[in-house]
Amino acid sequence: MSEAGVRKTRDKAAREKAPAVVRPPWQKFAVAVRNSTIDGHGAFAAEPIPARLKIGEIRGESISVQEARIRATRSERIMIVELSARKAIDFSKSTDPMRFTNHSCRPNARLVIRHGRVEFYARRGIAPGEEITVDYGDTHHDGKLACRCGAPGCRGAL
Ligand SMILES: [Zn+2]
Repeated sequence: MSEAGVRKTRDKAAREKAPAVVRPPWQKFAVAVRNSTIDGHGAFAAEPIPARLKIGEIRGESISVQEARIRATRSERIMIVELSARKAIDFSKSTDPMRFTNHSCRPNARLVIRHGRVEFYARRGIAPGEEITVDYGDTHHDGKLACRCGAPGCRGAL
């Protein structure tokens, strides 16, 4: 992701209650939301996912970049993707299970931003029980947030 950055911050309070997750039609493979050793909740494969196939997507609310920057300062845990200099999508209110996807420096999935949606594709076959991860790319943390992905060759920060 060069022009867009996923903005996600940690919120310890959010770990307390398990989120209610529905499976929308654009969720192609079953995914379970559980506690993650990486951060808060994570999205885990609940069935085998073959390489290269679309896992699911997150749909959100279209807002201006100006509004996105205001929201980013107000909320503890947000997920906003800037699509262009003017348009952004706020995924914070989405109930799509993929919104819990954590970052890994050696991810098993990739993130594609298309038509104002964030889509997830398997980089390799993913086994049931494996946590689904993507590389967030540049974040608003500007490398100041420690990465806990635990992957060999971890960059150490987001
Ligand atoms: Zn890492």
